[in-house]
Order: sequence, then C-alpha cells, then structure tokens
Amino acid sequence: MLELKTPQEVASMGVTGAFIAGLLDDLAQRAVPGVNLLDLEARARELIAERGAESCYWDYAPSFGRGPFRNVICLSVNDAVLHGLPHDYALVDGDLLTLDIAVSIDGWVADSARSLIVGTPRPEDEHLIEATERALDAGIAAARPGNRLGDISAAIGAVAERYGYPVNTEFGGHGLGRTMHEEPHVSNKGRAGRGLVLKPGLTLAIEPWFARTTDKIVYDPDGWTIRSADGSRTAHSEHTIAVTEGDPLILTASNHLAHRQA
Ligand code: MG
Ligand code: MG
Repeated sequence: MLELKTPQEVASMGVTGAFIAGLLDDLAQRAVPGVNLLDLEARARELIAERGAESCYWDYAPSFGRGPFRNVICLSVNDAVLHGLPHDYALVDGDLLTLDIAVSIDGWVADSARSLIVGTPRPEDEHLIEATERALDAGIAAARPGNRLGDISAAIGAVAERYGYPVNTEFGGHGLGRTMHEEPHVSNKGRAGRGLVLKPGLTLAIEPWFARTTDKIVYDPDGWTIRSADGSRTAHSEHTIAVTEGDPLILTASNHLAHRQA
C-alpha cells in the first residue's frame, strides 16, 4: 500500500536522514588505505547505538540472501555494487567504495548511499561516481507534484545514457517511511509521463547505480554481495527525499559535500 506522509512525519524522517548523513560523513573520512571494512562496520554500529537508532539491515532476510544479514551497513568495493557484506578486507589505495545504510529513529526510516574513492582517484572512477550523482540530482529534480514516477526514472536513465553507462533495472529505488521498503519501486530507467502521479507526502529513496560496461549482475556465494557481471567498477548514489508542494526535500542531504566532485 502506498502511504503519503504528513509534513510532521516527513520531518521525523528528516531527523533520521540527518543522522544518516552525519554517519556517512564520519565513515567517509575514515575510509582511507589500510582501514578494514570491519572497522567501518564497527564504527557504524557504535554511532547507531550512541544515537539509540535501529538498524534496518540487522536480521534483514529477503529471499535472495543466505540467512539474516548480521551487519548494519553495506560496504561494496570496486566491482561490488549492492548489498556488499562487510568482511575482513583492508582498503587499498584507489579502491572505489560504496557505503549504503538505512536506519530508523522513533519508527521513521531513512536510507542513503554514497560512493567514494579511497586514496588516489582514477579519472574513470570519478567519472562513474559523478554520473550516479548527476543521475540522482536529475531524479530528485523530477520528483515534483503532478509529475509521474516515470519522469524520475527517465531523468535518471537519460543521465546514464549521456555518460554512456548501461542501466540494470532489477534493483532501483523504492518508497520508504515506516519500513525500509514500501511501494512504489523506482526504476533507474523508464518512460517519462508514465506511472504513478507524484503527490506531496510521497517519500522515496532514489538510488541510481551503474557499472561501467554492463547491466548484468552476479551474486557472491554469500547470497548478498552483488557485483557487475564483467568485473567492471560500479558506483551508487542514494538519497531519501519527500515530494512537497514545491521543491523536493532531500532528507539525507549532507552538509559536508567534500565527497562531491567539483
Ligand atoms: Mg540504501
Ligand atoms: Mg534503498
């Protein structure tokens, strides 16, 4: 069922969103060569516990995973793009790391993801991250009342096309609020003017992710980590937003924009 949120409920999601933005800023600064993914997981747990927030990932058990997830953040490195299982791996210079996290505070969920380069960047990785960030910006800009869901998808897909990256449509954005995944699904490619009419109070996680040279994915034996099928590098940018009467509200916006390319 699709539930529109009241302005008060959107504000509550914004409290969670601000916490997530701060958490991602904190982890992004720690993600330097030599740091282990398990250290980042431990730091995320610490911040969640300090805040009295609740992880949406812990014990998450969808049909595709092997047993419940026992981590609070997804950490995906290089060709891994979604649901990266934190494991014993020390980051090396030039790694492309994606942080993706959803938590709830007082019953209200927000969800955000960010890709960054550990240490020395490769231009092609910067280009890929830039594409997902621009696609996210374009998707958010289309999230206006009277537009349709397909306008968001088409805006994201148009940026991917401009940058020359193929788009996978198996995983995309989603409604959220009381739980991490609600109606509707938000594809990263679609036809403008089609689908649900957007109304104030609709809250969405918009999350373009691209692999450089394929739209196909493969799963690790753990059933969680999803990689590009051809091993090419991947990036992912996600914000939780609310449709309002005017401009969309970005509920997971960071004040610290150092991760953004100029
Ligand atoms: Mg997410
Ligand atoms: Mg999401």
